[in-house]
Amino acid sequence: MKKIIRSLLLPASVMLASCVGSTQQQEEGFNYIDERFADIQMLRYNVEGFDALSLQQKTFVYYLQEAALWGRDILFDQNGRYNLEIRRMMEKLYQEYDGDRECADFKAFEVYLKRLWFSNGIHHHYGSEKFSPEFSREWFVAQTSCSDEIAEVIFNPDVMPKRVNQAQGEDLVLTSASNYYHGVTQAEAEAFYARVKAEGDQQRPVMHGMNSTLVKAEDGTIYEERWTTNGKYGKSLTKVVENLKLARPYAEDAKQQEVIDKLVEYYETGDLHTFDQYAIAWLQNTEPLVDFVNGFTESYGDPLGMKASWESIVNFKDLDATKRTEQLSANAQWFEDNSPVAPEFKKEQVKGVSAKVIRAAILGGDLYPSTAIGINLPNSNWVRAEHGSKSVTIANLTNAYAQSSKGNGMLDEFVYGEEEAELIRKYGEVTDALHTDLHECLGHGSGKLLPGVDSEALKAYGSTIEEARADLFALYYLADPKLVELGLMPDAEAYKSNYISQMQNGLLTQIVRIKLGDQIEEAHMRNRALIAYWAYEHGKGKAENGQDVIEMVKRDGKTYVRINDYEALRTLFGELLAEIQRIKSTGDFEAARKLVETYGVHIEYDIHKEILERYETLNIAPYKGFINPVYTAVKDAEGNITDVTVSYTEGYAEQMLRYSKDYSVE
Ligand code: ZN
Repeated sequence: MKKIIRSLLLPASVMLASCVGSTQQQEEGFNYIDERFADIQMLRYNVEGFDALSLQQKTFVYYLQEAALWGRDILFDQNGRYNLEIRRMMEKLYQEYDGDRECADFKAFEVYLKRLWFSNGIHHHYGSEKFSPEFSREWFVAQTSCSDEIAEVIFNPDVMPKRVNQAQGEDLVLTSASNYYHGVTQAEAEAFYARVKAEGDQQRPVMHGMNSTLVKAEDGTIYEERWTTNGKYGKSLTKVVENLKLARPYAEDAKQQEVIDKLVEYYETGDLHTFDQYAIAWLQNTEPLVDFVNGFTESYGDPLGMKASWESIVNFKDLDATKRTEQLSANAQWFEDNSPVAPEFKKEQVKGVSAKVIRAAILGGDLYPSTAIGINLPNSNWVRAEHGSKSVTIANLTNAYAQSSKGNGMLDEFVYGEEEAELIRKYGEVTDALHTDLHECLGHGSGKLLPGVDSEALKAYGSTIEEARADLFALYYLADPKLVELGLMPDAEAYKSNYISQMQNGLLTQIVRIKLGDQIEEAHMRNRALIAYWAYEHGKGKAENGQDVIEMVKRDGKTYVRINDYEALRTLFGELLAEIQRIKSTGDFEAARKLVETYGVHIEYDIHKEILERYETLNIAPYKGFINPVYTAVKDAEGNITDVTVSYTEGYAEQMLRYSKDYSVE
């Protein structure tokens, strides 16, 4: 699986930060929290600073956000072949239903539709299991023109049960509902791409398969159906391209125009060499204030980790906060040289780690409504090795999460004692932000593969190992005096708050997101469990006074995590980082499998039950996502844009229905 670079989840203490006096600017009266349904809390984010942009920049943002919204239907289809049909049928019913809207069936149906919108399909956005409708099949079929085939897809739990299946030993392609392979088995898909890769450039391989559906024809031949303006998804991509072209004249420099030109050329041809050229131009274009991601990007949705889902974000720099990450980047070589990793796996020269803090202006495709808080792209290994990458953390989203979780009770319920709670209150926000910066700016960019090692040697374990590598790099360095010296950490105690929240999250609280009895599947969660349980096991008896480094303490029938020796824990993080880098650098699949399967997957039933019960009493939604702001172009009589305004009043259902109406090609 290729390198996947971002934090999908909140750092633990963002979830935990309660009763903290806010250190971040908060616009008076801005409403961060919006409606709630199922396991979801909808939030809003504030695009602070938009009004201060120049008209040129605002206009640029305006067309780019149009381009971002036009890709939505692509993702619905990528997530499952029936998703768009089901969405349209359900939206029609939702708008036209003239029965009792308070009846149990309709109420349950409404929740289902809101979940479907949120997940861009009928499977959970995170756990990837299919939703089980709580309205009756009879009721639904009576209200709609639903065929038997579609009814089976919605109501039969055995039909397309998982969007992405990662269970060891099964045919992952045939058993996954995501829509990237038609009639092909896992073995056939792997053989196809093994051949394609063998025939291609070995030194600078394009990301084979990332922009196509792999199809088996009736005569048995297997071929790729490309996603281009005149191929599959052509109508949506044509609208994306149209808006990119409208944006182009308002780009901030010639290089940014070149970025758009390359992206358009790639959308038109599907040529993956052009995509690499685009990626290089994009990562080198660091000057402009406004920037964007638009395209087939991450491969979490493909069980084989090749096919990329469509996403977009438009953003502009947060200049103050960017100073923080620039300082890390400026010292990147120091961090590389001083890491506990074996010398042969280190980069002699850490290249082009550009880092900035941004404010999101719009979220689209696979970044909407559930989103990342940091992004590090591109994903191509050789492009990263030769040209570096662009890394961002998204300040206004992180801020919205932090604001919304204040006073939610997590801290009181799960933190071991007052001392720990105090550390988190005092240092939680600053160390979380720094953890994310270290993870994104330095962690993913560090280390190297030995010559001849296949970058995808770790296969299905690749992304968990990659995330663990980046997290461990962050954890190891959070405790380093260098950060205090650079003025990024307030003092030598602060890192402890992050150690507490990370261990507590990895050992206990992150599993609130998982159904009782299920195991951990998602890469970022596996990574957190792996690190925490590995450190827990290997720290037994290793604290200074002979105690365990990490202890699971039972009090009144409740389990808590206590760290007895923070410095010893840092040493453990260093050891695991060295081992994980070795695994990555040498492509040691067996060691990766063993680490992940031993520490990253299983959840002990009794602990899981206890944590879920305690969590339930807090009545917190485990998942959050964002309603986008609405941008309106103000035009003069000739149709020229004279201003762009932003508003935050559109409701969730209202927004989803408008997107389906205005940004759909059917
Ligand atoms: Zn990451």
